[in-house]
Amino acid sequence: MSSNKGNNNQDIKRHNKLLILKMIATGHKLSRVEIAHKIGLTKMAVGNLISELIEENLISETEYVPHSESETKNGRKPVVLSISDQSPCTLGILIKRELCQLIIGDLSGAILDSITYTYESLNNASELLDLLYQGYLQLQRQTRRKIIYIGISSVGPINMQEGVILNPPFFYGIHDLEITSYFEEKTGLPTYLINDANAGALAEKLYGMMRNDRNYLYLHIMNGIGAGIIINDVLYEGNTGQSGEIGHCSINFAGPECDCGNHGCLELYANIRVMRNEIYEHRTLFPESPLLNIRKPNWEDIIKEANNKDTLAMMVMSNYCSYISYALINILKILNVSAIVTGYTNPGSGNFIEQCLQSKISHALHYEGSDNITVIHSFFDDNAPLIGSIAFINNKIFNGELSL
Ligand SMILES: [Zn+2]
Repeated sequence: MSSNKGNNNQDIKRHNKLLILKMIATGHKLSRVEIAHKIGLTKMAVGNLISELIEENLISETEYVPHSESETKNGRKPVVLSISDQSPCTLGILIKRELCQLIIGDLSGAILDSITYTYESLNNASELLDLLYQGYLQLQRQTRRKIIYIGISSVGPINMQEGVILNPPFFYGIHDLEITSYFEEKTGLPTYLINDANAGALAEKLYGMMRNDRNYLYLHIMNGIGAGIIINDVLYEGNTGQSGEIGHCSINFAGPECDCGNHGCLELYANIRVMRNEIYEHRTLFPESPLLNIRKPNWEDIIKEANNKDTLAMMVMSNYCSYISYALINILKILNVSAIVTGYTNPGSGNFIEQCLQSKISHALHYEGSDNITVIHSFFDDNAPLIGSIAFINNKIFNGELSL
């Protein structure tokens, strides 16, 4: 609710109802008493709103199944609330350079069905649109749930307001693709576009590690580097949704010119081609490195071996993290966030990147009251931008921007 507008009782009721819906969707099997306690309303007021949400088939009550014997001993089993299996859903789409994925997700962020198409190349934009539309038709046929919105999370740059994918580098020449109007015409469903890293930041906010953190950065660091910025619990979208393009922050003013027009952009230094060159250049110093047995090591190979403490892999990954840290420190000096969430495929369980980034940025940051910043791996590994295609729409629903 906007602070410079009066609120009548209906507005307040709607606001409270959406707040309860959000708590149930993003919390873990809450009871009525827990909700009343968290929201600070009377049990009766909460009970009335919950009854309405049940009548509207948005939530349902189930008996709580205890996880342990001690829970069973603690008296009566409470009834808990969760998102109804009859509630409406969103079609989420993720567009990447090498694949696109379509999912059906509900208000709780649960994925009910999915399709993935991989490609090595695309002839033109129509080929991509046909593929996506085919996927939509198939998922629609397979689901008995009602789909009411489409959320598209895409490689950038994009124009969020216009729903246009602008000119992503290395994207088969596809540019100025008016993707939201295409889907609205073909499906009749309201469709919204967001860049992948911003979507990742929202996935963490609603369904991941960052539910209780107000200021943080989601950093997607695989093919290209992008960031989603959450400030005071809200995604900072910028003027046209092009915020967080950290890959095109300069780390060398005398560096080569980038396609974006800037000089010495981070992505010109922190990329897989540079990493492969470093492996090749240092091969005689580290003849035992498992990376030398791989003809064309990819990102997963390098991070896996760095986590396994292979010296060559650690050196290459550490240099990569150094480049990122130069850009990050500048951003963190301005934003003063409490955490950085890293999104990438981690084939093992190590956290070399998180530790490396943490040590490289901490020395340059002297936050009041805390001399450190937390760097953690995404709850969704590299899937936050996909889950974000759903979280992006659900966030609009919980905020009252979109109706159910
Ligand atoms: Zn650039």
